[in-house]
Amino acid sequence: MAKMKSALMMGPHKMEIGEKDIPSYGDEEVLVNVKHVGICGADLEFFKDGAIGAWVLSYPHTLGHEPAGVVAEVGRNVKNVKPGDKVVIEPGKPCFKCPTCQKGLYNLCGEMRFMSVPGDAGAPGAFCEYVAWPSRLVYKLPDGVDTADACLAEPLAVGVHSVEQSGIKFGQSAAVIGGGCIGLCTALVLKAQGISEIYVTDRHPGRIAKAKAIGVTEVLNDKEVDTVKAIKDICGGVDVVYECTGSQKAIDQAIPLLNRGGMLTLIGLFGAPKQQVDLNGLIFVEGSVTTNFRYRNNHPAAISAIASGTIPIRNIVSHRFPLEKLGEALELNLSNKDEVTKIVIEV
Ligand SMILES: [Zn+2]
Ligand SMILES: [Zn+2]
Repeated sequence: MAKMKSALMMGPHKMEIGEKDIPSYGDEEVLVNVKHVGICGADLEFFKDGAIGAWVLSYPHTLGHEPAGVVAEVGRNVKNVKPGDKVVIEPGKPCFKCPTCQKGLYNLCGEMRFMSVPGDAGAPGAFCEYVAWPSRLVYKLPDGVDTADACLAEPLAVGVHSVEQSGIKFGQSAAVIGGGCIGLCTALVLKAQGISEIYVTDRHPGRIAKAKAIGVTEVLNDKEVDTVKAIKDICGGVDVVYECTGSQKAIDQAIPLLNRGGMLTLIGLFGAPKQQVDLNGLIFVEGSVTTNFRYRNNHPAAISAIASGTIPIRNIVSHRFPLEKLGEALELNLSNKDEVTKIVIEV
């Protein structure tokens, strides 16, 4: 079998470049020659600990789930893309058959296979030269879109879905707690949707600079000021809060920020199994809570916003590395949250 270059994780903090078989593909599948892959928070967790909760890696393992590339070959029933097309891959494979999928909620499918996750819930990772994937989850890019930008359609789709879930309307105000990749993507979507009053809070200088570059109303440094008080001093409160950190502190900040009748949107996953929530604080303002898990049917909107320039996604990227330096890139991402916002790997 023909071989390809692949990053191989050999243990926590141990990354090598080696070889794997080029994957075979079925009649409905596409073989994509990967060109760019974003590094995501999940990659960092796996690289650091070798596990996320019950997902425990066995080695060698290939991380990566934010790929864009060029179609190399297609199965005989594939119609939506052809060899040579630039594409982006949606990395979660649902069954498309169960009642949840039939309701259209395919991101919640119990049979989901997600790229780079180990075991039964997983599929091979993308830090390698080729990925085989169902054609309906492979999207052709409009002319002129670079795969280095398009790989960010995945986190941007999270932002699109979060804003959709929150039901925010034109004229309402928003606060985004946490200016990491997902927080920045959420702020970009809010701005693109015409939300004119957006506050972002974070404590890392690089993220604060990126949030400022988006051109939101105000970016507040959580290390320097009481961000709840600061936002309330400016506007009294906001209609929608987007929690993008997964921390107890952010929950403590989010509820006091809500306007009466406001909406709290939970996006960040929590490290601790349980959180304390001031439910009376929520009840007294008749606050609603909604949640967000990844995305569904959001890639087309994300891709077209990138292609048209409506969302200048490239601005959230702080670093690029070749695949050979993936280990170095992951270490930098783990150790330097002050400077790193988003790293894109070139395969
Ligand atoms: Zn991701
Ligand atoms: Zn399903």
